[in-house]
Amino acid sequence: MRNVLIATKNAGKAEEFKTLFDRYGIKAISLLDLEEEVPDIEETGITFEENAALKSEGISERMNITVMADDSGLEIDALDGRPGIYSARYAGEPKDDKQNIAKVLKELENVSAEERTARFVCVLAVSIPGEPTQFKKGYCEGTIAFEEKGSNGFGYDPIFIPKGYSNTMAELDAEEKNTISHRRNAIIQLEDWIKNQ
Ligand code: IMP
Repeated sequence: MRNVLIATKNAGKAEEFKTLFDRYGIKAISLLDLEEEVPDIEETGITFEENAALKSEGISERMNITVMADDSGLEIDALDGRPGIYSARYAGEPKDDKQNIAKVLKELENVSAEERTARFVCVLAVSIPGEPTQFKKGYCEGTIAFEEKGSNGFGYDPIFIPKGYSNTMAELDAEEKNTISHRRNAIIQLEDWIKNQ
């Protein structure tokens, strides 16, 4: 693998992945670097893997190049794994992090500290033309706080307390989050796979 297109329009994610691939002499570009507008692919799958593959395979087949896509979200045990693949729009359209957090806190109103276990999940799908799609999965275990704290990060960070910490993810700086995040853990597994290519 010499070149890969990262199927994201999120500049932060694109940079993170470019740095990783660069270490292996692989040139990564993202949808933001293309002149042609690639239409958004609807995430109609019912698993993180299906949604990531819809993006990586859809664009790989269309452009005949190697494509990596990711899908991520928060799984809360007391809510049977919700919001899961619906994390971004849990409280409905348009996507609103504050409303999503309010909905989760309300649903966990009567749930004790011990029963508030949760994890962030990140699935990476890599589609090389003519080969089966590869999947790598990373987790970040933790618990859901009783109230929001901190202003760093995004999404559910203000209510997620990583295992072994007493602060929320939104109280950690970006560098520290990047060493323990689900995205980082999925990337570590992808590195192993790239090394053996
Ligand atoms: P996506 O994979 O970027 O579409 O993320 C889906 C949703 O999961 C986001 O909109 C967030 O609500 C949530 N999420 C994913 N990763 C994180 C994270 O690192 N912190 C907080 N929320 C996250």
